[in-house]
Amino acid sequence: MHLFRTIAELRIWRSQQASRSVGFVPTMGYLHEGHLALVRRARAENETVVVSIFVNPLQFGPQEDYDRYPRDLDRDLYLLEREGVDAVFAPSVSEMYPSGFSTAVVVTGPIAERLEGEARPGHFRGVATVVTRLFGLVQPQRAYFGWKDAQQVLVVQRLVQDLALPVDIVPLPTVREADGLAMSSRNVYLSPEERVAASAIPRALFAALERFRSGERAAAALRELVRRTLTTTPVRLEYVSVSDLETFQEVEYVERPALLLVAAWIGTTRLIDNVLLDPGAP
Ligand code: AMP
Repeated sequence: MHLFRTIAELRIWRSQQASRSVGFVPTMGYLHEGHLALVRRARAENETVVVSIFVNPLQFGPQEDYDRYPRDLDRDLYLLEREGVDAVFAPSVSEMYPSGFSTAVVVTGPIAERLEGEARPGHFRGVATVVTRLFGLVQPQRAYFGWKDAQQVLVVQRLVQDLALPVDIVPLPTVREADGLAMSSRNVYLSPEERVAASAIPRALFAALERFRSGERAAAALRELVRRTLTTTPVRLEYVSVSDLETFQEVEYVERPALLLVAAWIGTTRLIDNVLLDPGAP
C-alpha cells in the first residue's frame, strides 16, 4: 500500500493507473467499521482503491472541534492495508491549501443551507471545496459516502451534477453499534455514561420509523415522537426534521421518500443521525 503525503507523488502514481477503474473513499481518519464498509465496497467494485485521510479545517467552525478531532494515522494505515487498499493520500493542511488558495465551491439552496448548513455556517462550503479538490487530484470513477451524513451525500451529489464531474457517487447505509448508535469518530468524546445515554438517539429515530411503517404519515407526529422519546434522557435535541429527499424542504405529510434527521448534544459532544422514511417500501 502506498502512502502519499504530497500531491506530486499522488499525481505520478495516478497517471500510472490510467487503464484501471479507481474507487475513492474520502475520510477524516480515525477509522471505524462505517469507513471500512465504504472501503470494502470500493474494493469490490474497482481495480484500484484510494482512501484519503485529511481533517479538513475548512469544514470546521471557529468554535468547533478541529483541534481535538481524534487522529491516529498509524492505526488507520494498518486497518486500510488489511482491506487491500492500494493508496492512501494523507496530505498536510499546507499541501491541500497552499498559501494563495482562494477558491471555494458553494452549493446553494435548501440542501446546503438548512439544518447542518444553518447550524454550521461554512461547513458545506468546506466540504464541497475539499471534495472537489480531492476529486480533481484522485480522478476516481466512483466515490463512496455514508448515509450517516445524509445532507453531505446530497450536497456532493448536487455539486457533481452541477459541475458535470465524471464520478459516480455511491452512498452506503449507516453502520451502527450493537445498541443502534451510528458509528462516528466523535463517539470517542463520550464518557461511559454519555455513551450509554447516546443510544436514545437511534431509539427515538427507530421508534418514529416503526410508527411510520404502521401508517403514520404526518411529519409533526413523527417529529413529536422523537422529541418525546428524548425528553426523559440526557440527550438535548438541537433539531428534528422530516425533509424531502429530493427538494430537502420540510415535509408535512410523507408521500415521497424523506429523511428523518436529528442533531443532538450529549454533554459537549454533538452527534447527528437519520433514517429514511420511504412510503414505497414494503
Ligand atoms: P468522516 O471521516 O467522518 O468524514 O467520514 C468519512 C466517510 O465515512 C463519510 O462519507 C461518512 O458519511 C462515512 N461514515 C461515517 N460514519 C459512518 C457510518 N457509521 N456508517 C457509514 N458511513 C459512515
